[in-house]
Amino acid sequence: MAKTGGERHAFQAEVSKLLGLMANSLYREKEIFLRELISNASDACDKLRYLAITQPDLLGDDAALQVTIKPVDKDGILVVADNGIGMSHEELIDNLGTIARSGTEAFVKQMAETSGDDGEDGEDGQGTQENQAAGLIGQFGVGFYSSFMVAKRVEVVTRRADEAEGWRWRSDGTGSFTIAREADAARGTRIELHLRKEAREFLEPLRIRTVVKAYSDHIGLPIWLENEDGQKEMVNEGSALWSRPRSEIDEAQYREFYHHIAHMPGDPWHTIHLHAEGRIEYTALLFVPDTQPFDLFDPARRHRLRLYVRRVFITDECDGLVPPYLRFMRGVVDSSDLALNVSRETLQNDPILAKIRTALVKRALSELGKRAKKAPDEYAAFWENFGAVLKEGLYEDAEQKDRLLPLVRFRSVAGGERWLSLDDYVEAMPEDQDAIYYISGEDPETLRRSPQVEGFRARGLDVLLMADPVDQFWLPMVGAYGEKPFRSITQGASDLEKFAVEDDESAGEADAPAEGEMDKLIALVKLTLADAVKDVRTSERLTESPVCLVADEGDLDMHLERLLRQHRHEVPMQKRVLEINPSHDLTRALARMVGQKGATDALEDAAHLLMDQALILEGEPVPDPSAFTRRLSGLVSRALAD
Ligand code: ADP
Ligand code: MG
Repeated sequence: MAKTGGERHAFQAEVSKLLGLMANSLYREKEIFLRELISNASDACDKLRYLAITQPDLLGDDAALQVTIKPVDKDGILVVADNGIGMSHEELIDNLGTIARSGTEAFVKQMAETSGDDGEDGEDGQGTQENQAAGLIGQFGVGFYSSFMVAKRVEVVTRRADEAEGWRWRSDGTGSFTIAREADAARGTRIELHLRKEAREFLEPLRIRTVVKAYSDHIGLPIWLENEDGQKEMVNEGSALWSRPRSEIDEAQYREFYHHIAHMPGDPWHTIHLHAEGRIEYTALLFVPDTQPFDLFDPARRHRLRLYVRRVFITDECDGLVPPYLRFMRGVVDSSDLALNVSRETLQNDPILAKIRTALVKRALSELGKRAKKAPDEYAAFWENFGAVLKEGLYEDAEQKDRLLPLVRFRSVAGGERWLSLDDYVEAMPEDQDAIYYISGEDPETLRRSPQVEGFRARGLDVLLMADPVDQFWLPMVGAYGEKPFRSITQGASDLEKFAVEDDESAGEADAPAEGEMDKLIALVKLTLADAVKDVRTSERLTESPVCLVADEGDLDMHLERLLRQHRHEVPMQKRVLEINPSHDLTRALARMVGQKGATDALEDAAHLLMDQALILEGEPVPDPSAFTRRLSGLVSRALAD
């Protein structure tokens, strides 16, 4: 093994791809590499500070945790150093050779798409792409690799706080890196960037100061700029942003902190900064993002709030801090009441933490409520991002039901693009409507065209559309809003008789059948379909379609049944009720035919076809496609022969 070379390792394939993109990137915002390196340095100091609570020796005589930036002009090297936790040999390989977080492939793909190498984008297009890329880098946990946007070679000298031996990692960002022993490495990590010619601006103190101020002012550690004579000046505020009074923080500072903490591009949609005093003291700085984080629907449903105890970072994996239905929030909670040496494992059951959680939930929901009232359009944007997540609270957190229900928004049959609250819906109800009607399915537009909504629309009754899977879970739990129960319009008998049809054009052209003939048709269909249906009856639900299916009262609603099957639950076969529109031309003609001829083969075929149509309208398969085709062809050819 060569003395200078050390052992050679290949980068994970995704990393190589990523590095290629970084090196050739057209982004003008190259300066963000500094933000990323400072962010890593600050994390490393946080980690050491936490370990030092139980192992104070680790700090030794170097207890002031800090970051130092040092340009070495003559060599074209920029050094970013910290005296934090450092990395072991193994950690170097894992952390600076692979991408740890899930979604890597997605990242590389998005990165390639936004890297603009097609060269066709105008000035503006380029600008937004840069911002996306800058956001992406943080979001996917690949910040370190952004150093290759400015450096042709990167060297990392590091020693873990609890180890004696140090290491030097080296790479020119093409395919591989080497690791060699380094004598006398100081505790922590020193990143040496051998800048490309076109990136030499980052050696200028003024440029460095400006970048640090813009992106890293809020970091709760001193960041020093050191010149070649060893003189140092502090270039950031040096106190954690959340610990400062609100009045001293401007929008831009909140925004930068949000980028840092949330790894999200764009602006926070909402910012909550509170200092609670009294029985329990804590500070919280919470953000609601303006876009969906990529891991929002991860099955783990983990939140990403960072917990501090008196400015010491404890964990970002504290399950009890906020409930999963608020996992879209980003930010920090800093408590002065929790014990510094609280163990991460028992934290979840800590009574103080439980109180903080309750207070945070209350505050967050009340802020959402205020925003919904003040700016309904802005709230709609929030709802489109996070509504499906917030609704999880309706079945998980019964205590908050009355705070959550007013925050929920719905599309409806009559509402078009409008998002309705339950109050909006209830206010628009006619006096004798005693339930909140809804229909559930996968897609709002398909639901609007369902046969089951026809009779409601014709009577001027609105129907809420439940198109999120989570709706199937909270609806049965919640049951009612105030006095009004939720009622599925695809389940049970309808109570539509009592409402007048607004504009009755629904009755068909064909002559109404004689008294009793429709009943005979129903009896014949029932007999023909036998076990395939639970019942056959006439319906007020339909105006345009001849038939539809509904679930019987007390049976599983049809959409829920489909959903459960999709998720491989064992669901016993549910028989449906076939409802027939007695005003439809087709059913009228069939009823007259039954009256005149009694049961015939043609009528039995028609009975099967009615059922098959109803299934097709439900988006369900026809059980016997060849029989369906044979019957349909028979019926059509007889009709044409007449
Ligand atoms: P992220 O910070 O999102 O994890 P990065 O690419 O920025 O992604 O860093 C990858 C990993 O490398 C970090 O998680 C950390 O474990 C390690 N690392 C980077 N810089 C340092 C440093 N200055 N000190 C200690 N570890 C570091
Ligand atoms: Mg990082």
